[in-house]
Amino acid sequence: MFINLKNIASNMLDMFYPNVCAGCGNNMITGEIVICLHCHINLPRTGFHSNQYNPVKNLFRGRLPIANASSFLYFRKSGLTQTLIHQLKYKGKKEIGEHLGNIFGTELKEENYFDEVDIILPIPLHKTKLMQRGYNQSDYVAAGLGISLEKCVYPEMISRKVITSTQTKKKRYERWENVEDIFVVNEPDEIYGKHVLIVDDIITTGATLESCAKIILDNGAAEVSVLSLGFAQ
Ligand SMILES: [Zn+2]
Repeated sequence: MFINLKNIASNMLDMFYPNVCAGCGNNMITGEIVICLHCHINLPRTGFHSNQYNPVKNLFRGRLPIANASSFLYFRKSGLTQTLIHQLKYKGKKEIGEHLGNIFGTELKEENYFDEVDIILPIPLHKTKLMQRGYNQSDYVAAGLGISLEKCVYPEMISRKVITSTQTKKKRYERWENVEDIFVVNEPDEIYGKHVLIVDDIITTGATLESCAKIILDNGAAEVSVLSLGFAQ
């Protein structure tokens, strides 16, 4: 009789450290990573990149020339996306960012979306916030995207020079004022003439991304595209 020792070891490990889905909390079966198949299928995908009407692109219309834009998931209160992003940001579950970034990148690649992008830049945290949290969640989303889109990711290319207070409680016009000139490009030569894709965790008003896109274009990038994991509107 053939005994698969690896499976036995894996099943025993599961007894002590159950491999639970980050989305629904149910035990996962062998082959499922980070989220279970049910959650994977039920991720509230926006599909913005495949539609004529693209709400992310519309956010920037008349403000900045954005080449391409998309968000992976709708972000709703108490929804699956909120559960996942909350753990990514506040519970140290960095693997959620990388996994979702990787899934999104795979789906974008199938449609040749963002093919023309040269480099990927995650939106940075201010160093004070980075020290508190220990990591930048957008770095992990960008890393996952970089793998499936086959693009280089530069986490240190831009810095945030101003700490912005939480965006969600502010009125729209206050949010826009709040993010004027908050970024600085550390290595302008590296983005000159390039098509840069900026990655954020959630888009609410688009103000943070706009501020970042503006500084990148001001520093000589040929084109800017934007992308986020969640879209909250
Ligand atoms: Zn699940």
